Amino acid sequence: MTAIKRNRTREVRIGSIAIGAEHPIAVQSMTATKTPNVDATVEQIQQLSKAGADIIRVAVDSNKDASALNEIAAQVDANLSVDLQENYRLASVVAPHVQKLRYNPGHLYHHERDKPWQEKVAFLVETAREHDCAIRVGVNCGSVDPEKVDKYDPNDSISPMLESAIEHCEYLESLGFERFCVSLKDSDPAKVVEVNQRFAEKRPDIPLHLGVTEAGMPPDGVIKTRIAFEQLIGRGMGDTIRVSLTVPNDRKFEEIEAGRGILEDIANGRVRSVVDFNMSGLNIISCPSCSRVENEAFVELAGQVKQMSAYAKQYDLTIAVMGCRVNGPGETDDADLGLWCAPNFVNLKKGTESLGAYPYDEILSRLKQELDTLIDQKFSG
Ligand code: SF4
Repeated sequence: MTAIKRNRTREVRIGSIAIGAEHPIAVQSMTATKTPNVDATVEQIQQLSKAGADIIRVAVDSNKDASALNEIAAQVDANLSVDLQENYRLASVVAPHVQKLRYNPGHLYHHERDKPWQEKVAFLVETAREHDCAIRVGVNCGSVDPEKVDKYDPNDSISPMLESAIEHCEYLESLGFERFCVSLKDSDPAKVVEVNQRFAEKRPDIPLHLGVTEAGMPPDGVIKTRIAFEQLIGRGMGDTIRVSLTVPNDRKFEEIEAGRGILEDIANGRVRSVVDFNMSGLNIISCPSCSRVENEAFVELAGQVKQMSAYAKQYDLTIAVMGCRVNGPGETDDADLGLWCAPNFVNLKKGTESLGAYPYDEILSRLKQELDTLIDQKFSG
C-alpha cells in the first residue's frame, strides 16, 4: 500500500494513539447501545476494538450515563471519547475515565443560557487539562450556533459552520490549549468536502476529524462517505475518520471495516470520485443511531422507509430519519420530509413545519401519503 500524502497538521495525543503530524489516519466509531446498559456497551466497545477501532465515542447526557461510563471504562482498554451535547458539566464526572471530550459549539446554549459560551469552554479546557484529555470541537450542520446562522444568507449553510469552528479554535488557543481537533459534518457529501476544504485553507495546522453525518444504511451510506473522503483525503486533508452507518448493534463493526476499506482504496489509487457526487434522485438520510436513540425500532424504521419509498427513486427529494430529540428536530429541517423518533411515537415534518406525531405502526402510511402529495405538487405536469 502506498502512503497517503497528508497535510502536516499538529500532533494531538488521544490516550495511546496520536493523530495529526505523521501519524496514520485513525478510524473511529460510536456506541449505539444505551450507555447505562453497561454489559451491552462493554460488549459493543469490544466488538469495535476487535474490528480495529482506534477511538470509540460514547454519548453521555445524564449523571446516570456518566456513572455508567465510568464503570464501562474500567472494563475496556479502548481509547474512549465522551460525546457531550447540552450538559457540558458532566465532563468533570467522566474526564478521569476517558481520553477525549467532544463538544458541539451549537449545543452550548441550552443549559445556563445567561452564561457566555466562553466560560463553558474554559470549564471544558480546565477539565481536559486536569485529566489529560484531548478535545474535539464537533460542528454539525443541523445544530450550528444560532448567532452565526443569523449572520448569513439562509442558503449559505457553510459559512456559519466555518465561522463557528474558527472562533472556537481561536478561543481554545487563547486559553493556551492546543490539544484539539475539529470536525465539520453535514449529511451532504458535497458540503462536507466544501466546508472542510475551506477550513483547511484557513487553518491547515489543525487536525481534522472527517465524517458524513446521517449517511444512512449500507451500501448507500458507505458510498456517500467514500466520495467525500476520496476528495478530502486524496488532497491531504483528514487525520481521523468515522463512517456513520445505520446498522443494528451487532453490525456496528461495519463502520470500522468500511473506514479501513476506504483508506486502503485511497492509498492504492482505487478511487471513484474526481467527479462530483451526483445527488439527483431520492436521497434518504438516516442517523447512525447512538445511545440516545429513543426506540430501538428506529433502525428497522429506517429500512422500512427506504423500502416503502423505492417507488419514488427518480424524484429529487430528501427524506431524513433521525433517532432522537437531541439532533432529530434540527437535522430534519433541511429535508423535504423528516421523521424523528420519540419513545412511543414518531414526529413527522415537512421541511421545518411539524405535521404531528404518529405511532410506529402508522407512520409509514402517513409518510407515504405526504410523499405522494409532495410528488404531485412538485413534479406533476
Ligand atoms: S440523531 Fe440522536 S440517536 Fe441519531 S445519532 Fe444523532 S444523537 Fe444519536
